[in-house]
Amino acid sequence: MKYISTRGQIEPISFSQAVMMGLASDGGLLLPESIPTFSRDEINELAKLSYTELAFAIFTRFIGDDIPAIDLRRLIKSSYAAFSTPLVAPLQEVDGLYIQELFHGPTLAFKDVALQFLGNLFEYLLQQEKSSLNIIGATSGDTGSAAIHGIRGKDNINIFILHPHGKVSPVQEKQMTSVLDDNVFNLAIEGNFDDGQRVVKEIFADLEFKQKFNLGAVNSINWARIMAQIVYYFSAYAQLPVSARKDLTVVVPTGNFGNIFAGWMAKKMGLPIKRLILATNANDILSRFIDSGIYTTSKAQPTLSPSMDIQLASNFERYLYFLNDCDSRKLKEMMSVFTGSGSLKIDESLLKRVQEDFGAARVDDQATLATIKDIQQKTGYILDPHTATGVCAASRLRQQNEAAGTIVCLATAHPAKFPDAVEKAIGRPPAVPTAIADLDNLPCRSDLIKADTDTVKAYIKEKLAKR
Ligand SMILES: *Cc1c(COP(=O)(O)O)cnc(C)c1O
Repeated sequence: MKYISTRGQIEPISFSQAVMMGLASDGGLLLPESIPTFSRDEINELAKLSYTELAFAIFTRFIGDDIPAIDLRRLIKSSYAAFSTPLVAPLQEVDGLYIQELFHGPTLAFKDVALQFLGNLFEYLLQQEKSSLNIIGATSGDTGSAAIHGIRGKDNINIFILHPHGKVSPVQEKQMTSVLDDNVFNLAIEGNFDDGQRVVKEIFADLEFKQKFNLGAVNSINWARIMAQIVYYFSAYAQLPVSARKDLTVVVPTGNFGNIFAGWMAKKMGLPIKRLILATNANDILSRFIDSGIYTTSKAQPTLSPSMDIQLASNFERYLYFLNDCDSRKLKEMMSVFTGSGSLKIDESLLKRVQEDFGAARVDDQATLATIKDIQQKTGYILDPHTATGVCAASRLRQQNEAAGTIVCLATAHPAKFPDAVEKAIGRPPAVPTAIADLDNLPCRSDLIKADTDTVKAYIKEKLAKR
């Protein structure tokens, strides 16, 4: 399988090259040249596999012979051994819905599913190439901790994560700063998340510095992350009782369009998903697009589901590329209209196609809290605020009789990661799992640093000189 860019300006490259490139060098996003498909019979065979065997069967279609089977199996096995259940993404029946819990990895959020694998994959590819990589990223919480746990202790790879000092939740801060491996550097920035992002952007813009220090990113645009996320959609299908596998709707709490794009890929690969429902919080750029065909930025506002507080969905370009029938020229035109005016409108016929695959719901904080409370009262099950946006979307669908069959809601975080929101909803915080309780006793390490690009560059230089 070869990989191409949505912008059409690079020669086709291999899977390994695509993983190491991250963002395409022409500014686009990387995609496989074609979408592999499974027949209905093949899908029923896949449904009999364990999670790791399922991952192997799916990954092989995207990787071809770029990684020997024996190595790929080992990478997958060690990635998912870090999860607290061999099912990796178990399905729970709650109030007539199926909730797929994606939070059984080391940082209790769904990003672990992709980042545990990406860390192992980077290490493997760097060994093959005899090179090294230094990851730099800014985080408002979830991505940083999942990335640190994916990269910790790996050979030939260091990770520098900037978080806003005092402005990430105590659990998220501990999950990052309690990782004491020599290759992990936590920078507590004197400023907010935007300051951290600006510093990282400016560092990447210094091409000489970037090349000299082999800088790379782990943000959600890396193709391997999408690929890893496709697997749990197939796993959800496999875990459903055979009688419930018809008329399947999957609801996805959405921020950067990474998770739901993986679901769309699964559908195109042949998995019988009738419709994907995109749930947003008040930051509704994507749900507005699905309802109206108009994609317009607005200012991000803070909500109870902070990992979905986005202005721009970085993975959306991948979908737009397919919507334009894989025509890079048309895609580029669309993107330049959007960059120029901050807005983009698709025509009626395209909108119709969008709505065949997707529905959308915007769920504000009040409805999020009401959903957490309602489900807890009815069933005792406690939702985290991100997952609650999806469950609220599902109950609206059922009220409107728009999802008669089976509904799977993806649960993207463990409720104990967001105790304040849960307490607001039900009057008490959720029970604390041992993985979080134990954090309190761990020693922590981070360096407080000015939100200044040159200061951060000097820090990176100094640390790498000692490694
Ligand atoms: C990252 C994240 C999301 C959003 O996922 P996208 O792939 O960006 O759409 C939702 N919920 C939680 C808990 C997250 O960490």
